[in-house]
Amino acid sequence: MEAKRIRSTFIEFFESKQHHFVPSSPIVVKNDPTLMFTNAGMNQFKDYFLGNEVPKAKRVANSQKCLRVSGKHNDLEEVGVDTYHHTMFEMLGNWSFGDYFKKEAIEWAWELLTTVYQLPKDRLYVSVFGGDKGDQLDRDNEAFDIWKNIVSEDRIIFGSKKDNFWEMGDTGPCGPCSEIHVDLRTDVERERESGYDLVNNDHPQVIEIWNLVFMQFNRISDGSLKELPAKHVDTGMGFERLVRAVQNKSSNYDTDVFMPFIQAIEKKSGKKYGEDEKTDIAMRVIVDHIRAISFTIADGQLPSNNKAGYVIRRILRRAVRYGYTFLDLQKPFLFELLPLLAENFGEIFPEIAMQQDFISKVIQEEEASFLRTLDNGLKILDQIKLDLKEKNENIIDGKTSFELYDTFGFPLDLTSLIARENGISVDEKGFAIEMEKQKSRSRAAAEHETGDWVMVNEDEGVDFIGYDHLESQSNIIKYRLITDKKGDRYQLVLDKTPFYAESGGQVGDQGWLISGAEKIRVLDTKKENDLIVHFVDKLPSAPEMTFHCKVESEKRRLIINNHTATHLLQAALKQVLGDHVQQKGSLVNDQLLRFDFSHFAKVTDEEIAKIESIVNSKIRANIPLIEQRNVPIEEAKNQGAMALFGEKYGEFVRVITFDKNFSVELCGGIHVPSTGAIGFFKIVSEGSVASGVRRIEAITADAAESFLNAQVNLVKDLQEMLKNPKDLKKSVEALLKERNELKKEVEVLQNRQTGALKEELLEKAISIDGMNCVFAQISVPSADALKKLSFEIKNELGNALVVLAADIEGKPQIAVTIDEALIASKGLNAGNMVRELAKEIGGGGGGQPFFATAGGKNLGGLPSVIQKAKEMFS
Ligand code: ATP
Ligand code: MG
Repeated sequence: MEAKRIRSTFIEFFESKQHHFVPSSPIVVKNDPTLMFTNAGMNQFKDYFLGNEVPKAKRVANSQKCLRVSGKHNDLEEVGVDTYHHTMFEMLGNWSFGDYFKKEAIEWAWELLTTVYQLPKDRLYVSVFGGDKGDQLDRDNEAFDIWKNIVSEDRIIFGSKKDNFWEMGDTGPCGPCSEIHVDLRTDVERERESGYDLVNNDHPQVIEIWNLVFMQFNRISDGSLKELPAKHVDTGMGFERLVRAVQNKSSNYDTDVFMPFIQAIEKKSGKKYGEDEKTDIAMRVIVDHIRAISFTIADGQLPSNNKAGYVIRRILRRAVRYGYTFLDLQKPFLFELLPLLAENFGEIFPEIAMQQDFISKVIQEEEASFLRTLDNGLKILDQIKLDLKEKNENIIDGKTSFELYDTFGFPLDLTSLIARENGISVDEKGFAIEMEKQKSRSRAAAEHETGDWVMVNEDEGVDFIGYDHLESQSNIIKYRLITDKKGDRYQLVLDKTPFYAESGGQVGDQGWLISGAEKIRVLDTKKENDLIVHFVDKLPSAPEMTFHCKVESEKRRLIINNHTATHLLQAALKQVLGDHVQQKGSLVNDQLLRFDFSHFAKVTDEEIAKIESIVNSKIRANIPLIEQRNVPIEEAKNQGAMALFGEKYGEFVRVITFDKNFSVELCGGIHVPSTGAIGFFKIVSEGSVASGVRRIEAITADAAESFLNAQVNLVKDLQEMLKNPKDLKKSVEALLKERNELKKEVEVLQNRQTGALKEELLEKAISIDGMNCVFAQISVPSADALKKLSFEIKNELGNALVVLAADIEGKPQIAVTIDEALIASKGLNAGNMVRELAKEIGGGGGGQPFFATAGGKNLGGLPSVIQKAKEMFS
């Protein structure tokens, strides 16, 4: 069965059991402080399990893009080395939200694997939670009894808490799980040793394919477990592993999921897969990583120097480096795999094909820049080798190897490899120590503690009323304490709230909660998954009271001006630059708006002027806001609203329109009632943020007015400085012209002066030991003049030794010039001489044997320099 068919069969199977198909959520996670990337199918359903949201369907099936390269699940170092862990993989899952439980989950899993996919039953093993003393939990007899009816007991393994008890985090929903493992060894091997003992033992052919999690507890922060009122099923099956089992291969990479990519790399590198372990690993790394990189870029995360962006950059570099070192691929090559990727995933994840050019450009640029870094790193390594040789040492210390890694992206194994080739070793322990130091620094920076929610009032769901109101009478549903480097703060959840929570680029609202004389400042409002959380620095004295909530309205007014202006800007960009313009990020606050978008060239001044003019004309047209809430997503798309890649949309969306022929966007943010409120729009900067991504910053309303006033005042000041000329521009031009002419005149005069000085010095030349020597203290305007003078004297004298101690605009400088012939015959060296002489002016310097210079601090030492020079030859 082909991979594509295997995937669709999974979905169809569960659809036949009344499951509702839900598309994958983006691989890059937003609004979750605990997670950078989606690492399991359950991430997008977290709010259901936490009880923050009511599920739209009780039975769901999906294929989720997952990435396990950071945090709790980090498989990066395994990837490519083994044949069944990937960075990015698809997790197939079926879900019950308070509906069916263990019996159906287990029986359907078995039916699908053995009847539909026809995996041989004698290759399957299952595991059941064996209990845990610490948690006072018995073994999962419920699951065991169900399994007993399906498989013989000698195929059931009781597992520990580590393998068979699943937890979302330190706190939260959790429960026992049952895993299904498959033994893919040959019959001969299976004869020799029972698969039973190999389960959960890192055997590359006896692997876990499916994990059925039964969520039945909630762990609270004192570590104890509470039975959940509604029980859920969360299952996850690695698609790539399933395909391998169904296609009966000994490696995930031998399936049709990866084979086309392996073949492409074979062709590119001229090497064959399967001939050498090292090149095999390199090929696996590459074909795995290209998926992870492309999918994350497609979902809006560009490679960068921090957080999620840095994780992606490191994955990309790992692929480039394996290619570079083991496959001799020394030019960008990853980006060439994009067409294949687009084709292979077209059906299920069309985002790759839709942004193919963009993703490919970004990857190509990153590759090229990392290859340059590798080259630089190699040069630095060469220098390190030389230094070691000089010192007669042969170990690169931990600090140096870590610096290579940290600053030049030069990984330890590459440093070690090159070192080994040169008979040098690397202090790997020292490297590990430096790495640990850095990790604990960033851990300390990121550390935070979160307390349990304290319930205050009945939870009847949260109502956001901020589109229509700036104030409300609200009750606190619950609160909790959080502690991080900003200190102690509280998070409050309100039953209804006018505070907008940061999202879609728009910052969170600030304001107050007021009760009687007590006024509590709301510092920020953020989303945690779908919960609206208000940050305050102290708790109200009576949290159960009703509060008067008040958003800081002046700030909000400025924010919404900028938000609407962002929509107008995006529409204008498309008109002026073309339809390829895609939003890649935005920030909207009370000061400015920032908009990142895909575009491959600098936006020219004329284009900027056009864009500004379009936006300002739309502002003057005072176009009224058309806000549609709860539009079915398909209908919104038909209206021409563009969905953003990497954004998670529900079935119903909000559509914001300013002139249906101009700007129609899916947006949850807050906007002006009509565009006139914005007043004026001005772009203040345009630049590049990453390859293929430009950034525009702009201001509106009050800020734009202040900006223009400042510019006008600047011109006024200049005019006054220049005594109010009729034409300011002309008079500045005249000033510049005059300045250039004066500069030229000064040069001529200086040359004339140095000419005279030269003649004077030539006359003073004395002959010592067959050398024509000039020792003199002089004054020259610049270091260049000193150099020029030295060379001219040397050339005219022949066999010259010239020592000049110069006062250059109050700073002492020495120049020593020696004829090449003397260097050999007398064993002289200008560099050594200048270093010695520089002591007299309290400085240092160096250069080549025939010419060297030194600067210093002590102008009064110049006569001693000449004295000393003379003594050297007396
Ligand atoms: P393993 O012990 O093999 O790393 P796991 O216990 O981490 O697996 P789960 O967290 O239970 O796996 O994830 C559910 C399923 O997802 C697994 O049964 C497996 O099929 C698949 N899976 C997990 N990690 C990976 C990975 N890095 N690459 C591919 N598939 C994976
Ligand atoms: Mg794992």
